[in-house]
Amino acid sequence: MRVYPRYPRREALAAGREEVARSRSSALRLCPDVSCYDAIRSYARFVRLIGTRRTFEFRIKPSPPQERRMEQALEACRFVFNWGLEDRKCLWQYCQVSTTFEDQSSYLKDLKRIHSSLQEAHAHVLQDALKRVDRAYQSFFKRCRSGARPGFPRFKGRSVYSSFTFKEWGNGASFDGKRLLLSKIGRVRIRLHRPIEGEIKTCTVKRRADGWYVLFSVVLQPVWRSIDERDPVGIDVGIQTFAALSTGERVPNPRLLTANANRLRAANRKVHGRAPGSVRRRKAVQHLALEHQRVARARRSFHHCVANSITTRFGPIYVEALRIQALVKNRRLSEAISDASWGLFLRILSSKAESAGSAVVAVEARGTSQECPECGAAAKKRLSDRQHRCTNCGYTADRDVAAARVILGRGLGRPVGEGAGSHRLPAIREPASQTTRRSVTPLGPDKSEVMVGARGIEPPLSCDN
Ligand SMILES: [Zn+2]
Repeated sequence: MRVYPRYPRREALAAGREEVARSRSSALRLCPDVSCYDAIRSYARFVRLIGTRRTFEFRIKPSPPQERRMEQALEACRFVFNWGLEDRKCLWQYCQVSTTFEDQSSYLKDLKRIHSSLQEAHAHVLQDALKRVDRAYQSFFKRCRSGARPGFPRFKGRSVYSSFTFKEWGNGASFDGKRLLLSKIGRVRIRLHRPIEGEIKTCTVKRRADGWYVLFSVVLQPVWRSIDERDPVGIDVGIQTFAALSTGERVPNPRLLTANANRLRAANRKVHGRAPGSVRRRKAVQHLALEHQRVARARRSFHHCVANSITTRFGPIYVEALRIQALVKNRRLSEAISDASWGLFLRILSSKAESAGSAVVAVEARGTSQECPECGAAAKKRLSDRQHRCTNCGYTADRDVAAARVILGRGLGRPVGEGAGSHRLPAIREPASQTTRRSVTPLGPDKSEVMVGARGIEPPLSCDN
């Protein structure tokens, strides 16, 4: 099992080295005949640094003048973003020169002199808009290099650009008693419905359909946890059953889009029935946005409930490495797949598992539903066959549960039929090279092309079973 935790590599390495140095003697005692490097690897099986970056979201209640100033700041950021993108495009088109974030930031002063409206926003907020251009470029070329065909970064319209970020807490954004003090905006009322853990690093103000929010990105103190000894579980996600567990449990799919189809359709019709540019149309658009937000929140809440139930009961979690973008191209299933939002669910599951000291690991997806979990024989099924019946050994089970058991077997890297379900992580002395694991991909929280995939960070402390 390779685990890519979510934290900056340098910090983790430093913390890991320190921890290993402290416990090297005990690790060496466990494996007297291995080199120091092996000792570190062996030690890394027992402890893992828990991810340290989290986001806390709170509602804010700006006064009407404050709201106006926030809109102005958004508009200024959008202008700078679009300028930065155009600057890069033109420089390349006419001079074949590529520029950097630092270079563009040094132009901000001149830009402010020409466009006085930019003075309405804090300097860091504008720099962050340029940083977003830089990030868009970086990820575009990164995906090009990996063989994907991404879309080129686009200019942002008013309705798309909806947030601005203070990149340094305490500089432009801070707490002033019970209120949030934002530079050039004022003392904004905030509903602190829960305590903020950790140290606040950045502060993002975001406009949503139902009002304004603030998002604090915090760094939590790294925690060392022993690798948990709880039973592993395999999960098969699907459309009929949202998630089938290798233990035999099945979570039904709530199909929220279908359940709310009438309301969404009515709201949509209202928008299209009203004259473009009219006040009534704007109100209808607002209503439609609220309806979509309601569905999205219900879905998110459902995902959190399911993920919570799984991570509190099981240790390592094995899932299929799904190529969701490829699956969505299937016209008949695309809506149902988007509605289920497996990608979002797996990200939530991954984050919760990390907090619980466990991990989500993706295994090769090919043919998980066409194999018998008991004997490993091929068991051909069409999508409409809901039962797994093995002609070789006679094992009968629900189709999705059988697939979940195959996934678990693949994740544990054992020949099938060894009673998947009562497995513990291997003992420390078992050499890493002897396992016969099939391709295992780590799960990352970002939306990479395969959804489950390269985070671009090397695992500082990888655990190879
Ligand atoms: Zn069988």
